[in-house]
Amino acid sequence: MIKSSDEYSMDTLCVHSGAYNDNHGAIVPPIYQTSTFKFTDADQGARLFKGEEDGYIYTRMRNPTIEALENSIAALEGGAKALGCASGMAAISTLFIALLKAGEHVVCSESVYGPTTILLNSYLNKFQVDVTFVDTSDLSCVEAAIQPNTKLIFIESPGNPTLVMSDIAAIARIAHDNGAALAIDNTFMSPALQRPFSFGADYIVHSLTKFLNGHADVVGGIIVLKNGDEFPAFRKVLNHFGGVIDPFNSFLVHRGIKTLKLRMERSSENARKIAEYLEKHPKVEWVRYPGLPSHPQYELGKRQMSAPGGMISMELKGGLEAGKILMNTIEVWTLAVSLGGVESLIQHPAAMTHASMGAEQRLQAKITDGLIRMSVGIESADDLIAGLEAGLSRITN
Ligand SMILES: *Cc1c(COP(=O)(O)O)cnc(C)c1O
Repeated sequence: MIKSSDEYSMDTLCVHSGAYNDNHGAIVPPIYQTSTFKFTDADQGARLFKGEEDGYIYTRMRNPTIEALENSIAALEGGAKALGCASGMAAISTLFIALLKAGEHVVCSESVYGPTTILLNSYLNKFQVDVTFVDTSDLSCVEAAIQPNTKLIFIESPGNPTLVMSDIAAIARIAHDNGAALAIDNTFMSPALQRPFSFGADYIVHSLTKFLNGHADVVGGIIVLKNGDEFPAFRKVLNHFGGVIDPFNSFLVHRGIKTLKLRMERSSENARKIAEYLEKHPKVEWVRYPGLPSHPQYELGKRQMSAPGGMISMELKGGLEAGKILMNTIEVWTLAVSLGGVESLIQHPAAMTHASMGAEQRLQAKITDGLIRMSVGIESADDLIAGLEAGLSRITN
């Protein structure tokens, strides 16, 4: 098993990364489905608790199967250490709890995963942590939002659901010049397509639920640290707040990672073909995809991502009604939220996830009536295009 992400290519790291302890030569990390570990005697128990001996005590604190996954993702991201969490939101909330205290301020992308906005807006203010949401694709907005007490800049790139991109290297410089740190939610890209530490980011979080696991059968998350010195403090926070991943889910995600590079490449290839098809389609108003030259930040995407990924947004000309027709008549694609699995998913926010919001509120959140979000899987691009055409051809307005 290998550790260093500088010596091997991503293809190799996906298959081999994730050192683990095993005395029997198992070729995959065994599932240590145990809540607790035996001490050999009272003295050993004391030594383990005092930290004088390296070993396992209790799974919320440390578990070999979870550790194998953490080692794998730390290597993929080129970080020092990682912490497996129960969900992407557990990773993000643990990161905030570990880094922030009362009186401090966060600058956050306005285009982030909905529950991240809610966490910052509705819960962190209970602990007197302030937040400013800005368009982080515009560096002057980021600079203007910095305050003397700004401790953290939190971005998502490409952002959800607009696929707007933020310049990781430039924002890392702004953060560091102002005594703040940069954290990025790298869920949409995965380390196979974007490695934020190489652009100066300090912390990376992922929802493992999405591309890293890739098979729509696990909910999980991870925090990756560039600086290993911070690991003991983060480990304590995760242990005491308790949002750890479990061994079986860790095993499944670690298995999924073996094909991460292949899946990301295939999703990107498919998504590019689909985006090109949609951009020419008469029923489509616009398409937003980082791999299309029409994307306002196409050049930035090429600098910081090795491929454009599997996420596409588009606006249908016919608005709400056209969206509903597409949802009800599309073939091959599955109607569902979430993303990053081998199967292609499609959803219509105005008619589905955001239907309970008023029309005005939706517009404020940039959820237009004809907005469609797609997560492109690894099926045949031709079949996916035919499935879309089956729906789009039924739209009459
Ligand atoms: C899904 C998602 C999350 C949250 O992850 P969960 O595993 O559902 O908690 C966070 N960020 C992004 C970008 C996501 O897509």
